[in-house]
Amino acid sequence: MKLLRPESLEAAAAELGNGSVALAGGTDLVPLLRDRIVGPETLVDVRGIVPHGVHDGGARIGAGTTLAELEADPEIPQALREACSLAASPQLRSMGTIGGNLLQATRCWYWRLKFPCFLHGGDRCHARQGEHREHAIFGNERCASAHPSDPAAALLALGAKLRTDRRELLLAELYRLPTDDDRDVTTLGPGELILELAVPKPEASTYLKAMDRTKFTFALVGVGAARFGDGVRLALSGVAPIPWRLDSPDDLERATPLPGTAYKVELARPLIRRALEALG
Ligand SMILES: Cc1cc2nc3c(=O)[nH]c(=O)nc-3n(C[C@H](O)[C@H](O)[C@H](O)COP(=O)(O)OP(=O)(O)OC[C@H]3O[C@@H](n4cnc5c(N)ncnc54)[C@H](O)[C@@H]3O)c2cc1C
Ligand code: SF4
Repeated sequence: MKLLRPESLEAAAAELGNGSVALAGGTDLVPLLRDRIVGPETLVDVRGIVPHGVHDGGARIGAGTTLAELEADPEIPQALREACSLAASPQLRSMGTIGGNLLQATRCWYWRLKFPCFLHGGDRCHARQGEHREHAIFGNERCASAHPSDPAAALLALGAKLRTDRRELLLAELYRLPTDDDRDVTTLGPGELILELAVPKPEASTYLKAMDRTKFTFALVGVGAARFGDGVRLALSGVAPIPWRLDSPDDLERATPLPGTAYKVELARPLIRRALEALG
């Protein structure tokens, strides 16, 4: 495998997209390479190229900013700070970037163990009939995986936008449910790089996370909530193959849990109530 360290965005763009893969902090990608779940011929190290740092009083965030930098930055909305501080471990947060976090692969054990499941291009979801305690309660008809990113739910509640090397889009438009024709859970094109996030400033925001342990574990359910004027936006992590927007707490009634994930609906209810109370 080749490792390239291009010195400009143009040079990186020329290398990406032909089966090569972008490498940022490597905290998600390196284990996938080790386990041969992905096997590109070329890795393109984008750390020196993707913008880094928090700018304009917290309104713009370089995709190369680490979660550790974000959790400590008083200028960014509280929901994003809390989501970053509740993710992974201090070591992983020091290496892991926000761009890589949004694009991390599913933690579904069938997928990680290379079962030929729907998301790997097969014709069935092994989790639906098998072990699925940590899986989805929404959007789970084809693939029942649960999106693992805490910051993604916070950013979805905040109404964040992304700038890539090709376009601008709402964070909500980054994600899609996999279909028979396209098993991807994002809308990024081959080799497309996320460069920057634009994050609106809410009047109040928070991120709450229910976990099996109090530290270093993925969300069973995470709730991002943000208040802008009279309106409140809610988004959940750990409940669907992609970060999941709720129009109101009543949307929980529309959940389609599997036998082993029904408890997540009951977990989400008080978490949402507490998040709304925290917004005042
Ligand atoms: C044990 C463990 C526990 C974890 N717990 C949590 C948790 O509780 N909550 C949580 O939210 N996360 C958790 N994570 C995930 C962790 O936060 C991510 O692995 C990390 O943020 C990924 O960032 P990275 O820079 O290391 O990405 P990499 O591993 O370098 O890349 C990840 C993916 O993103 C792509 N990529 C990276 N940057 C860009 C870019 N700018 N544009 C386009 N593509 C890009 C890569 O090609 C790759 O596909 C955990 C990870 C581990 C290993
Ligand atoms: S939940 Fe998704 S990733 Fe897991 S086995 Fe089912 S199709 Fe595969």
